[in-house]
Amino acid sequence: MSSETGKGNLIVISAPSGAGKTSLASRVLEDHEVQRLKFSISHTTRRPRRGECDGVDYFFVPVEEFRRMIDQDAFLEYARVYGSHYYGTSRAFVEAQLDGGNDVLLDIDVQGALQVQQRHPKALMVFVFPPSFRVLEERLRNRGLDDEEEIKRRLQTAAGEISLYDRYSYVIVNDDLEKSILELKSIILAARCRLPRNAHRARRICRTFQPQAG
Ligand code: 5GP
Repeated sequence: MSSETGKGNLIVISAPSGAGKTSLASRVLEDHEVQRLKFSISHTTRRPRRGECDGVDYFFVPVEEFRRMIDQDAFLEYARVYGSHYYGTSRAFVEAQLDGGNDVLLDIDVQGALQVQQRHPKALMVFVFPPSFRVLEERLRNRGLDDEEEIKRRLQTAAGEISLYDRYSYVIVNDDLEKSILELKSIILAARCRLPRNAHRARRICRTFQPQAG
C-alpha cells in the first residue's frame, strides 16, 4: 500500500488539543483547490459534545463495539487518548480511498500517528504547533467545550505530544489560520506532483512526442 505508486497519499496531522487542527483540517477539506481529499471519520468511545453528529464528526460507539472492532482487525491504528477514551481509524475506509486514487486526511493523536507511520512509511506526517503553551491554555478555556478537569488533562498531555514533533516530516505553527491553511494545502498539492504518482501520465504525454511509426 505505497503512497508513491499512483495511489492516493495519506496525510496525518497531529497537534495538542486546542492547537486549531480541526479548524485547519475542515477548511482544507472544503477548499475547492484541493479536490479528491477525503477525511477519515474516526470511531470513538467518547460521548458526543454539543453540536457533534454521529457519522459526521465521529462514529460514536460503545466500548464493547470498539473492542469487537479491535478483535476484527478493523483499525489501521487505534489509541486510548487522555487515558480514558478510545479512538480508531477504519482500515477499510482508508485503503479503499487510497486504492481509488484519493488522498486521505487523518486527524489523529501522536500514538496513532506513529502506528500509521510504521504501516505507511511514506505518509505525509504533519505536526501542528500552537504558538505557545499560554496560547494553548487560553484557546482551550475560551472554546468552552471541556470542563476544568478535562482541560487540565489535555494540557498535561500536550507536553508529551509536543516532545514527539521530530517524528514528523512537516511542522505548521498555527499562529495565523489563513497561513496554516495555505501551508497544509501546499504540502498536499506538492506531494501530488511527485514523479511516482505522475509517471503513468508523464509516459503517456512522452509518447505523443514520438514520431509515428511508418
Ligand atoms: P477530541 O476528543 O478532542 O475530538 O480528540 C482528542 C484527540 O484524539 C485529538 O488529538 C484527535 O486528533 C485524536 N483522535 C481523533 N480521532 C482519532 C483516531 O482515530 N485515532 C487516534 N489515535 N487519535 C484520534
